[in-house]
Amino acid sequence: MTAQTASNPLLRREGLPPFGEIRPEHIVPAVEEVLAERERRLEELEKSLTPTWEGLVEPLMLLDLGLEYGWRPVKHLLHVKNSEALREAHDAMLPKVVASDLRVQQSRPIYEGLVALKEGSAWASLSGAQKRVVDLRIRDAQHAGVGLTGDAKERFIEIEKELSQIATSFQNHVLDSKKAYALIITDKADTEGWPETLRAVSAQSYNQAKEEGDPDATPESGPWRITLDFPSFYPFMQHSRNREQRREVYLAYVTVASSGEWNNSDLIARTLTLRREKVGLLDFGTYADFSLDAKMAPGVAAVEKMFDDLSSPSMPHARKDFEELQALAAEGGQKEPLAHWDLAFWAERLREKRFDYTDEQLRPYFPMPRVLDGLFALTNRLFGVTVEQSDGGVSVWNPDVRYFVVRDEEGKQVASFYLDAYTRPAEKRGGAWMDDCLDRRRVDGKLHLPVVHVTCNGTPPVGEKPSLMSFGEVETLFHEFGHALQGMLTTIDYSDIAGTNGVEWDAIELASQFMENWCYHKPTLVGMTAHVDTGEPLPDDLFEKIKAARTFRAGSNMMRQLEFGITDMRLHHEFDPGGAETAFDVHREVASKTNVLPPVDENRFLCAFNHIFAGPYAAGYYSYKWAEVLSADAFGAFEEAGLENEKAVRDLGRRFRDTVLAEGGGRHPMDVFRDFRGREPSTEALLRQNGLLD
Ligand code: ZN
Repeated sequence: MTAQTASNPLLRREGLPPFGEIRPEHIVPAVEEVLAERERRLEELEKSLTPTWEGLVEPLMLLDLGLEYGWRPVKHLLHVKNSEALREAHDAMLPKVVASDLRVQQSRPIYEGLVALKEGSAWASLSGAQKRVVDLRIRDAQHAGVGLTGDAKERFIEIEKELSQIATSFQNHVLDSKKAYALIITDKADTEGWPETLRAVSAQSYNQAKEEGDPDATPESGPWRITLDFPSFYPFMQHSRNREQRREVYLAYVTVASSGEWNNSDLIARTLTLRREKVGLLDFGTYADFSLDAKMAPGVAAVEKMFDDLSSPSMPHARKDFEELQALAAEGGQKEPLAHWDLAFWAERLREKRFDYTDEQLRPYFPMPRVLDGLFALTNRLFGVTVEQSDGGVSVWNPDVRYFVVRDEEGKQVASFYLDAYTRPAEKRGGAWMDDCLDRRRVDGKLHLPVVHVTCNGTPPVGEKPSLMSFGEVETLFHEFGHALQGMLTTIDYSDIAGTNGVEWDAIELASQFMENWCYHKPTLVGMTAHVDTGEPLPDDLFEKIKAARTFRAGSNMMRQLEFGITDMRLHHEFDPGGAETAFDVHREVASKTNVLPPVDENRFLCAFNHIFAGPYAAGYYSYKWAEVLSADAFGAFEEAGLENEKAVRDLGRRFRDTVLAEGGGRHPMDVFRDFRGREPSTEALLRQNGLLD
């Protein structure tokens, strides 16, 4: 090691990453060195491996340690302390890191070694968790075509290349087609009833798009420019009183990328054809079979059963929702029958009538320190662990970042996390997320404890006043902390499957959404409120409104998600891309059954369905609902036992900790869930919590 590398903070391999010391100029030399070392070790392993746990899998997992300390902090800083220099260094190294990951995953000697281990005599002596590490590595390699040879291999690579080009074009068409549309409103009368934010957003949009020399728009007097971006489109549909303009914007929205130079229709057909051919090479019947092979859901039939179980009770509620809107529209003077472009508008009127409250009304009740105390107290009550602030001496990237240690019932440290709570628009990405910092693993016999990041974008404290959270921010914090708990309370020592690693995609939101449920439990929620000026807890009527808002139009919302999920599954399973029926026919048929109003003839929603044609949700859109079913059902166990029954809550909490949180990716999620719940998941709790059971 040279003097330069010795002082490079990205080259350490122990303790916490020294975030405060990392500079952009450290990145390129450190990552170059890490990748070179990884390549050397990989080559060595390829030559010398023996198909045993110690002779192959342990050194294989250790290949990632350098990147854990040398690259993960870079990715993290890119999101929370972005700068031009950092971005440049990151972008310079990213392709090399991706290539290195692919090199490991596509190594034929490693793959053959893993298969030999699975087929050899040493297999029987491995533990369940060890077997799973090997199985997941083999599965991922096979899905990436590593097992193929000759012509099949070549064709596979060709297909992958074309699919990835199509996905990029698909996405670009959606963007360009959306960008090309705008409705310019000049008559102030047409903006009557608009919220302030919509006026501001649309005046700003006008100014950004206007020709040089055109007069500036102002929020008060326009002109206003409505686009198909969600923050413009959706509030417009909710608040515009001009029905004809609503119709125009709606039709533009459902026909995005469906004609002219950005037409995605042929790309949809081509994608579905290529996907089917690709998975055929891997010996799967359909793309859905392939997708589900790496998921918790046991098969297409199980997913379809979930769709049925959710839609039969939800559809009558969706009909009732529709009738309510119809009545309200008639009352409000609309003569024409309800059309698609009326739904958001009247739903918003109904919401205002029933339980209007604003974030600003709620914020004073949720000072962040109080919310954190409540969250940590709940964590203690459920899982027996204590959370303790422990900033002293920990190197961080911003002085507002807090560091916490998590201790078990004996007081022994089991994990820790960073909380980066406040927004910093100049350098930090929006939203909230949980990310791994260090995995739980053994290195030279020594146990590395897991460390995670919890990142939010709350309002920073002003003067003496603490950060005040909206209810949505509280819910999000609980969500991310649920992920964090699964990352931290893992008892698995193999980094591949420790914490949230290796958890099947459709099960990953179980712990997070489970924690969200507690935000609707009155004593828990009210217990962590104290008005910033008066100290008063959240008043009952506000709690009731929050609760009612959760199930508002739940039947309609459920059916909308089912429309997307069922369409996705049909297209990737029964549908024959070479047959007479088109993908649009499939969507139309599904939409006619899942909507009270049949879709308009012009509807080409599929042409903008990035999730499944340009994102990772192909034959996976169902995962949203699958995970909701799991988390609701897990919470249902607590409801059934009685949320005020201290002993029952405590026992169930420990069981949740010892199964879902402790085992994470260490076992198949269906087995883990069954151990917690005593049976397979049921849709009943979700339907009940959504008010959809009669
Ligand atoms: Zn999540």
